[in-house]
Amino acid sequence: MVGAGLAGTWVSYWLWQAGIPFLVLETQSPGASTPVASGVINPVTGRRLGTTWMADTLLPFAYQAYSDMGKMLGQELAFQTQIIDCFGAPDKRLVFMQKAAEPSPYLQIPADENDLRPWLQYHMGYGIVSPGYRVHLTAMLGGWQHFLRANDLLIAVDDAQKVAPEGNNLTSLAGISAEKIIYCNGKWAAESGLFQYLPFSLIKGEALLVRLNDNTLPAAIYKKGYTLLPWQDDMWWAGSTYDRNFSDALPTAGFRQAMEQWLRGFLRSTFTIVDHLASIRPGTVERRPFIGWHPRHPQIGLVNGLGTKGVSLAPFFAHQMVASLSGANAIDAEADLARYSRLLSR
Ligand SMILES: Cc1cc2nc3c(=O)[nH]c(=O)nc-3n(C[C@H](O)[C@H](O)[C@H](O)COP(=O)(O)OP(=O)(O)OC[C@H]3O[C@@H](n4cnc5c(N)ncnc54)[C@H](O)[C@@H]3O)c2cc1C
Repeated sequence: MVGAGLAGTWVSYWLWQAGIPFLVLETQSPGASTPVASGVINPVTGRRLGTTWMADTLLPFAYQAYSDMGKMLGQELAFQTQIIDCFGAPDKRLVFMQKAAEPSPYLQIPADENDLRPWLQYHMGYGIVSPGYRVHLTAMLGGWQHFLRANDLLIAVDDAQKVAPEGNNLTSLAGISAEKIIYCNGKWAAESGLFQYLPFSLIKGEALLVRLNDNTLPAAIYKKGYTLLPWQDDMWWAGSTYDRNFSDALPTAGFRQAMEQWLRGFLRSTFTIVDHLASIRPGTVERRPFIGWHPRHPQIGLVNGLGTKGVSLAPFFAHQMVASLSGANAIDAEADLARYSRLLSR
C-alpha cells in the first residue's frame, strides 16, 4: 500500500482485521490533507441543508468504526456532538427553519437561542445540526502509525518521487514486490502516470489553531460562515477555505488576516494564534470518491477522491475496497473506479 493518511489508515485497518498480509509505504509529505483536517462529519450539506450523500449509511458506520479503532488504540477518537449553525443572514435562518419544520432527522431549533451569548457574538440566532461527529484525526494517525511500526508494517520512504513502479513491473515499489498495490496517496495520485486522467478537482484549505483566553466555551462545532471546533491540547481549530485555483500548498497571509478578523467578530474571548495550517484536499469533479481497481492493471488499486468528506467516506469505502479482494461487486457503483474504464484504458 502507498500512503498512510485517512485512506491508507482505513485500508490497512481493514486488511489487518481481515488477516490479509500487507505493508504500508509512507513519505510524510508536506501538503498531506489528513493532518490539517478538522475531522467533522456533518449530516447536512450545502445552502439548502440537504442530507449528505449516503448519510444514513455512512455516518453510523463511521462512528462505529472510529470508536472501535479507538478502543484498539486505547484512546477515544470519535465524539458525537452538536453543530451550532449561527445564521449570518435572514435567508439562512429562513431556510433552516423551513427545513427543520419538514421535519428533518438532523435539524433542531434550540430551546433558547440566547444561551451562547456569554461566549459568542451572533445576531440572527442559531439552529442545531445533530448528531454531528468530530474525529480526533491527529490522534488516529499517530496511534495507527505507531501500531503499524510496532508490527513492522510501516516503511518510511523519504521521497514521494522515489516511490514509482520499477521498470515495467507495476507491483514492485521501493525494492518491495507485492501481489497487488493499493494507492492511498491523496493529491499525489492526480500527478501519477497511472491515475492522472481521472477527473480530480484539488481543493486547497487553510486553518488556524488558536487558544482562547477564556476557555469555557462549551465543546461543540460552531459555524458562522467559517467553522470553529475543539482541537487537541486545549486548542481550537478555525477554518477553512475551498480554493480551486492555487499555486502551492502553503499558508497565506490573506487567510490569516481574514480568519483573525472573523474570530474577533465571533468570539467574546481574546485568543492567541498557535499555528497556521494549509493543505490540499483530493477532491473530484463529481464529488464522488475513486474506489477500486485499475481496469487495465487489475493488480493496482486506488482509494482516493475523498474530497471534503473524507472522514465519513474513508471507513466505509476502504472496507468495500478490502471486501473486493475476495468478492466481485463489493464496491458501490457510484464510487467504483470501473465507471472510468474508458478513460483509464487510454
Ligand atoms: C483545511 C482542511 C479541512 C478539512 N476538514 C475536513 C473535515 O472536517 N471533514 C472531512 O471529512 N474532511 C475534511 N478535510 C478533507 C480530508 O482531509 C481529506 O478528505 C482526507 O484527509 C484525504 O485523505 P487521503 O488519505 O486521501 O490523503 P492524505 O491525507 O493527503 O494522505 C496521502 C498520504 O500519502 C502519502 N504519500 C503520497 N505519495 C506517496 C508516495 N509516493 N509514497 C508513500 N507515501 C506517499 C502522503 O505522505 C500522505 O500521508 C479537510 C481538508 C482540509 C485541507
